[in-house]
Amino acid sequence: MDIKDIKTQELVKKYNFKFTKSLGQNFLVDDSVLQDIVDGAEVTEDDLVIEIGPGVGTLTAELLKKAKKVIAIELDDELVPILQNELGDNPKFQLVHKDALKVDFNELIGEEKSVKLVANLPYYVTTPIIVRLLNEGYNFKSLTIMIQKEVAERINSEPNCKEYGSISVLVQYYCDTRIVRYVSPNCFIPRPKVESIVIRLDRLGKPRVDVKSEKLFFDVVRNSFNMRRKTLWNTVKSIGLTKEHMEKAFENSGIDPKRRGETLSIAEFAALSDSIYEEKNNS
Ligand code: SAM
Repeated sequence: MDIKDIKTQELVKKYNFKFTKSLGQNFLVDDSVLQDIVDGAEVTEDDLVIEIGPGVGTLTAELLKKAKKVIAIELDDELVPILQNELGDNPKFQLVHKDALKVDFNELIGEEKSVKLVANLPYYVTTPIIVRLLNEGYNFKSLTIMIQKEVAERINSEPNCKEYGSISVLVQYYCDTRIVRYVSPNCFIPRPKVESIVIRLDRLGKPRVDVKSEKLFFDVVRNSFNMRRKTLWNTVKSIGLTKEHMEKAFENSGIDPKRRGETLSIAEFAALSDSIYEEKNNS
């Protein structure tokens, strides 16, 4: 079946579509970016693609050319008839009219083995969506997403860089990360104030490090970055160990308590949180 090539500006005009700023509606108008997203995601005919925020369906149409099926999740009531009208005839297309923060992705994925998420994400929900997709353990092979440049740089950052933070550790705990390309504000209508990056997150078969308690690991990480200027000794205090157990935890992990959290690799955070775990259970 032939899939129609649809173009964003024509569609916006055809349907007299009015953008809603609060929904993060900046639509792509540059074909080369659309192509780089689809190529960057390496979509094949074995893949179920889940797209968050299809807008008027320009990226969706490109994904439909390559994928086995595309499920697009769109919140805006105004876009539903447009998407149904433009893409509804395609048997590979399914529209879910819901908030992506509330969708049960397992229900959409079903028995599919090769599932890729592709999206030009609405910026106002970028971090909660990424956190949800990773923490809730859905069976995505990869996430190829366009996000605000600063957030992508944080995700892709390393210890001792100013961008390194909780989100870097969270994403790299679950995924390999790779920047696909930079995208100028001129590639969108309306033009956003910020620059963007397409980043690909490839989910690892299992988390990058083994930890005794994921909850404690992420608590230690969060505390360390919430109190960035403090030494690890001061940030770990809030976990509630006695001085003796704290000393033992640092000694056993081999990590100097005078260091700051922002200098620790993921493996070091794991070693520290495992030693704290041992001391907590011995106290
Ligand atoms: N994919 C289109 C493109 O690349 O041109 C549009 C991307 S635009 C940045 C973000 C889209 O996400 C909009 O269509 C917006 O209505 C939709 N959206 C915003 N919040 C949403 C949410 N919570 N759940 C699902 N879709 C959402």
